[in-house]
Amino acid sequence: MSAARVRFAPSPTGHLHVGNIRTGLVNWLFARKAGGAFVLRFDDTDTERSRPEYVTGIRDDLRWLGLTWDEEAFQSERADRHAAVVETLKAEGRLYACYETPEELEYKRRRQRARGQPPIYDRAGLTLTDAERARLEAEGRHPHWRFRLDHEDIRWDDLVRGACHYESAHLSDPVLVRADGTLLYTLPSVVDDIDMAITHVIRGEDHVVNTAVQIQLCRLLGGTPPTFAHLSLMTDVGGGGLSKRLGSVSVADLRSDGLEPMAVNALLARLGTSDDVAPVTTLDALADTFDLGHFGRAAPKFDPADLARLNARLLHGLDYDAAKPRLAALKADGGPAFWDAVRGNLERFADVAEWHAVAFGDVVPRADAATDAGFLRTAAEALPEEPWDAATWSTWTGALKAATGRKGKGLFMPLRLALTGQPKGPELAALLPLIGRARALDRLRRAAADGAADRAAQAPTRA
Ligand code: GLU
Repeated sequence: MSAARVRFAPSPTGHLHVGNIRTGLVNWLFARKAGGAFVLRFDDTDTERSRPEYVTGIRDDLRWLGLTWDEEAFQSERADRHAAVVETLKAEGRLYACYETPEELEYKRRRQRARGQPPIYDRAGLTLTDAERARLEAEGRHPHWRFRLDHEDIRWDDLVRGACHYESAHLSDPVLVRADGTLLYTLPSVVDDIDMAITHVIRGEDHVVNTAVQIQLCRLLGGTPPTFAHLSLMTDVGGGGLSKRLGSVSVADLRSDGLEPMAVNALLARLGTSDDVAPVTTLDALADTFDLGHFGRAAPKFDPADLARLNARLLHGLDYDAAKPRLAALKADGGPAFWDAVRGNLERFADVAEWHAVAFGDVVPRADAATDAGFLRTAAEALPEEPWDAATWSTWTGALKAATGRKGKGLFMPLRLALTGQPKGPELAALLPLIGRARALDRLRRAAADGAADRAAQAPTRA
């Protein structure tokens, strides 16, 4: 068998959203696992709606995710080839001219439904005489062109859905050429799949009906139909279609939201499969265990909360060497001890800048309870001399506990608020040596002063 060749074929008529990119990713992983080629094909036959900025956006999204492509193609550059095939099909009588307006077609469908018949096109265009056609064109009508289907049982073995078949007699002859002469996606896709020697077409299940038509068209054009795999479409957590919410889950949004591209990949590669979602750090590792056979028929749910959790897990497991260049770019490289102290608290990588300021910069120390002022002064006085290490925290708090009788939250929370300005965060045992004695002393004193000022403000005034 020849090496696998797959294509990801977005139409550059909008931004990629998680549904599109899942298809792209699955194609990429399939090609990688099979040692084959991944072709990026822009299905840009809709010249009205296709835009160069969407082409750029799609490339940027793919690069951000690491989904490199081996070849790139534009359907619009193959228009002559498509037009030649259209002429051949017309000459062979497989494309026939139809003149109905959308309203007339709708009327026909309504009548069919009222009679209990399926709303299948009645092939009226096929029986027109030359004189009738001339009269319709004299009225100013331009024909659209339908593909005359051979009525047969079209079968294929779908790598996700298993054995599939369609009675083409149950389908309307599909329109392949619009009245303005532009082509619908159906024919260029088949021609290009043949010419580009595509072996596997992996796409969303919204294309299943197209597949029946495309298999017939492919054979008619002398091609061997590729192997098909149709993925169940993702829904949102409520079970609603994701496509209705394009804006809320575009890939560009995920990127600007600061998510890790591998979190997106690791989730989308496993959604809808029997495999566990895990914080996998490389595409190759995802490809190693990738298997189309693990995808099921049920519609997987895309939950942004799952993505956020996976993102955090990836960061928690990221080692210093991998983080270093990114820390440097944020001017937040505090060395391995700093990274190890804070990574477990990150939800987004950029959060690290805030902890860098806590460890090495300036914070606004907090004292929530006015009654903590005295305790904080004692804490400042009890700060051990440097050098500090991981044991300093317990030495210091042990002494404070003995001296003040405070314990648990009453002991630790005022210290945390004073030292970091926040009620939650990394282990203070790890953070304290990074903060160092000078900053710690300053923060404790400032927090104590704030607490005392608070107490003065709250003290009842006597007349
Ligand atoms: N341009 C089509 C789409 O975006 C491609 C479908 C296919 O993969 O054949 O839906």
